[in-house]
Amino acid sequence: MTTDFVMAPQPAVTLAVEGSPARFPTNRIFCIGRNYAAHAVEMGHDPNREPPFFFLKPVSALATDGIFPFPAGVGEVHHEVELVVALGSGGKDIALEAAMHCVFGYGIGLDMTLRDVQAEAKKLGRPWDVAKGFDGSAPCGAIVPATRIGHPTKGEVSLSIDGMERQRGNLDQMIWKVPEMIAALSRSFQLNAGDLIMTGTPAGVGPVKPGDHLWAQIEGVGNLTVRVE
Ligand code: MN
Repeated sequence: MTTDFVMAPQPAVTLAVEGSPARFPTNRIFCIGRNYAAHAVEMGHDPNREPPFFFLKPVSALATDGIFPFPAGVGEVHHEVELVVALGSGGKDIALEAAMHCVFGYGIGLDMTLRDVQAEAKKLGRPWDVAKGFDGSAPCGAIVPATRIGHPTKGEVSLSIDGMERQRGNLDQMIWKVPEMIAALSRSFQLNAGDLIMTGTPAGVGPVKPGDHLWAQIEGVGNLTVRVE
């Protein structure tokens, strides 16, 4: 028996999968904050290992066409280049040793941030949702299956704008590692296939403007080109 709906459900938001005609159906986007010490310092925080904290973006924030639609009139809009972990399975209260079995593959994403809106929210003790989850705030490239590249734990992460390097770091500088993030999230959420985790950004975040060409690269994963329109 097919389910009847009172209106058409929203279509799945999907990502390309490198080397496959099939697509990756997304579920949620979890993001970790301050996961590289040098970025925590540049944002005015203690670089020591404080408990991890997370926020979410809706999957409607994904931009998969290589274009970031610039939101005008809301102050500075910052780039944050991040390794994206794509889950192929999930669970609740996942043990650290079992966490990597959940990973389907990896991608490159940008956690685009309305920095002035976020700063105001921080000051007033308000949520970050609008600063982090607005339409187009998660440009993301194809998911590369772990069966092709393994599980990268070191490798350069960088972002350039029009050929000028802005961000550089290394995956091995993550404060909380991928299995630790999965285990931590699974204490609060039943993780599922299709969930994405944006794993934090290295130092060097800064503003973008219309016309910029962003070029992100993660050694061992690939690269991503995004034009700001
Ligand atoms: Mn981020």
